[in-house]
Amino acid sequence: MPDAIGIDELVCMLRNAAGLIRDNQDKLSRLDSQGGDGDHGTTMVRAMDRLEQAVDENAASSSIADLLQNVGWAIMGADGGATGPLFGSFFMSMSGGVGGETLDARSLATAFESALAGVQKNTRAKVGDKTMIDALAPAVVALRKAADNGDEITASLDRAAKAADQGARSTASMQARFGRAKNIGEKSIGHEDPGANSVSLLFKGFLQGVATDG
Ligand code: ADP
Ligand code: MG
Repeated sequence: MPDAIGIDELVCMLRNAAGLIRDNQDKLSRLDSQGGDGDHGTTMVRAMDRLEQAVDENAASSSIADLLQNVGWAIMGADGGATGPLFGSFFMSMSGGVGGETLDARSLATAFESALAGVQKNTRAKVGDKTMIDALAPAVVALRKAADNGDEITASLDRAAKAADQGARSTASMQARFGRAKNIGEKSIGHEDPGANSVSLLFKGFLQGVATDG
């Protein structure tokens, strides 16, 4: 279990996250068909294709910050509906929060805080509005708490993944205030938000990437 991760572990994290999104494509689209246009799984897989391409092209030559920036640009450049710019800014802003060539639990928390702040520059959605923020914000808070608590990387990401999962589940009882699902008003209550589920899967993938060797 690493106390700090380098670019190889980051690559593992990103690839595992992409794999989990791909495995859950149908579920994500099904969730989006409740209140949106049913394309979230397809859109996320397209974004993950771009992510993997950027990883393949940059893993050997890049710094951690450059790799994340390239991933962010790649996702931004995909035809990504509402989520493309949000997840693109996530990785680009994460890059801005990276100071060195390894990340320990504290600096990883800083990088994810920067990622969250970047997303929040692109949306006014807050916790409770039934969006990806409902998974993302608690995951980042959990990561920081874990790091402050002295937890190492795997334990910190485990807490973050659990918080994201819980956050995604919590959206079932919420009414959507942003995105397409807002249009159906109270009818959006009763099923989980697709974007929050994607965030939960991403964090689960990040955890897998450090908890396993590949
Ligand atoms: P689109 O609405 O363009 O079809 P997707 O289906 O890919 O986009 O993504 C829908 C998800 O995007 C929602 O479940 C929600 O989590 C997220 N989302 C949409 N609009 C916003 C917003 N303004 N702020 C935060 N998240 C949003
Ligand atoms: Mg959609």
